[in-house]
Amino acid sequence: MLILHGLTIKSFHEGLISKQFSTFEIIKEFFDYIEEHDKKIGAYLSLHKDKALLQANNIDRGIAGGEEFGNLAGVPLAIKDNILIEGFRATAASKILKHYSAAYDATVIKKLKNSNAIFLGKTNMDEFACGSSTENSGFQITKNPHDLGRVPGGSSGGSAASIAGNMAIGALGSDTGGSIREPASFCGVVGLKPTYGTVSRYGLMAMASSLDQIGPLTKTVEDAAILFNAIKGKDEFDATSVDYAYSDDLLNPKLEKIKTLKIGVPREYFVGGLAHEVQSALDEARKSLESLGIEFKEISLPHSKYALSAYYIIMPAEVSSNFSRFDGVRYSRGDMTTGRASTGSVNNSALTNIYFKTRGEGFGAEVRRRIMLGTYVLSSGYYDAYYAKAQKIRRLIKEDFDRAFEEVDVIFSPVAPTTAFKIGEKTKDPLQMYLSDIFTIPVNLAGLPAISIPVHSTLNNNGMSSPVTPHTSHSTPHTSLPIGFQLIGKYFGEADILGIGTFYERIHANLV
Ligand code: GLN
Repeated sequence: MLILHGLTIKSFHEGLISKQFSTFEIIKEFFDYIEEHDKKIGAYLSLHKDKALLQANNIDRGIAGGEEFGNLAGVPLAIKDNILIEGFRATAASKILKHYSAAYDATVIKKLKNSNAIFLGKTNMDEFACGSSTENSGFQITKNPHDLGRVPGGSSGGSAASIAGNMAIGALGSDTGGSIREPASFCGVVGLKPTYGTVSRYGLMAMASSLDQIGPLTKTVEDAAILFNAIKGKDEFDATSVDYAYSDDLLNPKLEKIKTLKIGVPREYFVGGLAHEVQSALDEARKSLESLGIEFKEISLPHSKYALSAYYIIMPAEVSSNFSRFDGVRYSRGDMTTGRASTGSVNNSALTNIYFKTRGEGFGAEVRRRIMLGTYVLSSGYYDAYYAKAQKIRRLIKEDFDRAFEEVDVIFSPVAPTTAFKIGEKTKDPLQMYLSDIFTIPVNLAGLPAISIPVHSTLNNNGMSSPVTPHTSHSTPHTSLPIGFQLIGKYFGEADILGIGTFYERIHANLV
């Protein structure tokens, strides 16, 4: 087995510092592996090989010269294609941005560059992050590395598959209604959606601005903490970003403290509709957490049942407004092959024609559906009946969480009602697809932090991660698809959910 298969951020750093390997060797190995194996998976939309190898060499030279490096130096990361890296293509998996190159770095990218992390490339996603399976990409379908006949989840499916498929050590995704956590659950990796405002959204292509957050996907919870720590912080370019002083517990959780946390189990989340394998995996996870000495308590989140309906009004409203900037004039040039529809010479009616044609041809069906829904719920006469009402429900959902957090410190729930579904299984029925996010959406509406952790953690007792063995048959049923459980924290409670997750993994690896 190649060494890169078991690497975590932590073990990569240790190996690099103790000179077990060079950065160049590992980065080169990753590209060789990606070039051979990503043909089957389809996790990446573009690769940044030349730049990455150059950076790797620079780090190795620095190490040889005695320079000190932090724990992200040289770490190969995959970045979701809606996050800007200056000079590289950024399409958000939309044909309308097929030839768009980013003019500047997103703040998270700037921060990771300062930490000397290396970007392997940009990952596939549902177009503009609208979807739960990565099947809405304008370019390709990403397969689940655990079973090539199934979806990796979405919309950050390429990022999750790149890690599960041993094609990156860590990744960034974005989460508006579950897009980090659901693919993390389906691919057996860790995915963290931070508190709204903790991570700058500057340079993230906006989907629904009041819900969007960037966050890490990694093999272990400890790695998620490292990556989150590197990207968080107030940013003058994002007015919604906040300054919050996280304690040292974020990176060094203490078991004595973790044991005193109380976990709430929402009565409404464990009812019909949950696949039995998900239910039994969650029972198992709960038992492990109880064995750490953590107390569980039943709680109620009565308005959660309206979350999906409120989300599918608020989100499209913001989508319709955010996506109006993609008009074929800005962010693209020339004829349709380069983004804009060709309509002949430009005069007034031709201009309107450009908009119609470019947007009609450039956006996929799901994005168009959301733009139309959003335009409708914001139109005069319907605004109060839909949008204003949905905002009130959003408030009630937030208040449910506020009440619950007076009794408990963390909430335990499923991430998704099922395991990864088959490619094509839900594409004909958008409502079925929307249901995948029933447990993740309330968290975005409230702005809380939440993490998806694989019930069967891949961390092993030598501090490495056990690699995935791909299942290639499309027909035989797969009995061991990954399942994640979700921990929801209080506002800025990342240290609690990451801390519990870290010890959960350690029990599994016999490290506690
Ligand atoms: N799957 C949800 C949707 O389609 C969430 C998407 C996301 O989090 N970006 O809206």
